Amino acid sequence: MYILGSGMGGCLAAILNPNSLVLEASEGPPTNHNAVLRFRTDAISKATGIPFKKVHVNKAIYYRGELMDHATPLTANLYSKKVTGKILQRSIWSLDPVERYVAPPDFHNRLLDMIGPRRIRYGEVVESIDLASIQCTGDRKGYARRNAEPVISTIPMPVLSKATGIALDSSLFGRMPIITARCHVHNCDVNQTIYFPDPETKLYRATLTGGELILEYSGEFTGNYDFDIVDLHENIIPSLGLDNADIGAMTFGSQKYGKIAPVDPATRKAFMFEATRQLNIFSLGRFAVWRNILLDDVYNDVFVIRQMIEQSHYDIKKGMMS
Ligand SMILES: Cc1cc2nc3c(=O)[nH]c(=O)nc-3n(C[C@H](O)[C@H](O)[C@H](O)COP(=O)(O)OP(=O)(O)OC[C@H]3O[C@@H](n4cnc5c(N)ncnc54)[C@H](O)[C@@H]3O)c2cc1C
Repeated sequence: MYILGSGMGGCLAAILNPNSLVLEASEGPPTNHNAVLRFRTDAISKATGIPFKKVHVNKAIYYRGELMDHATPLTANLYSKKVTGKILQRSIWSLDPVERYVAPPDFHNRLLDMIGPRRIRYGEVVESIDLASIQCTGDRKGYARRNAEPVISTIPMPVLSKATGIALDSSLFGRMPIITARCHVHNCDVNQTIYFPDPETKLYRATLTGGELILEYSGEFTGNYDFDIVDLHENIIPSLGLDNADIGAMTFGSQKYGKIAPVDPATRKAFMFEATRQLNIFSLGRFAVWRNILLDDVYNDVFVIRQMIEQSHYDIKKGMMS
């Protein structure tokens, strides 16, 4: 079986399907996720043997110099506009303390190590797929014979549409890139998240996860990280009770697929069903199914796909539509 993409979703699928081969567009191990990474359960930890830490997470909103423990239509709608460009229901309404699990910072690399270099082919940009083969461009110009065997795709739905020729109105698939900044915080071991709805700053979330501060900003990476020192003094330091001396050197990252805007379920499901019916391709992961799911859900979906591979198209359609 082929798996398209070696992000964390593709890695989970490859670990649970030991005879699979992974085709990945990037030239080496991808670093797709620099933002906060927490889990609702420790199921993935148990399955992979990678230890997670159970933590208690506190959340708040910081708006115009004030900390708040609940959202209002004003703060929630400003926040949603900042992260999606639209007024939609977002997680900022859920500020109750929660128990979560945190993976080690090298989690993705450890997943890649578990698969091993022989089962991942880097530099393979999947460009077209039919029942007989998968054609790749990029430096390697690869060609994978598949003889109609199942493929698990974690590549974004609009990209798979291009590769398969299965029609999709890509203009409906809104996404917003994000920039992340991370640094060490001295003498710190808490798990806290602050939301920043104010449209005056591109900062939308700051999170302390153990001894690390993760800042998330909406917007495109322009090749020059221009860290906003005003943000540090007006938003980050006062909302978290830090001072300059607590904060270490920043490292920056960007995610082309940061926030995704929701798409009508009928559109998403019709595309995924056609990919399965016509080409025996199963979609897995946040950008492949175009839903704001967490890796806990992706892990469960690997097992759902395993069942679907054995089912008739009639039963798959019935399951998808329920
Ligand atoms: C801001 C933010 C916060 C998040 N917080 C959490 C969290 O707390 N907990 C949680 O569980 N999840 C969280 N997530 C979700 C988590 O990041 C995703 O579920 C996960 O990273 C998605 O992994 P993936 O493998 O499905 O997709 P990706 O990481 O996008 O992997 C897809 C891979 O496919 C490759 N690819 C693309 N096109 C092609 C092609 N044509 N040919 C070959 N390869 C291709 C890409 O290079 C990439 O490596 C968050 C996401 C964001 C954006």
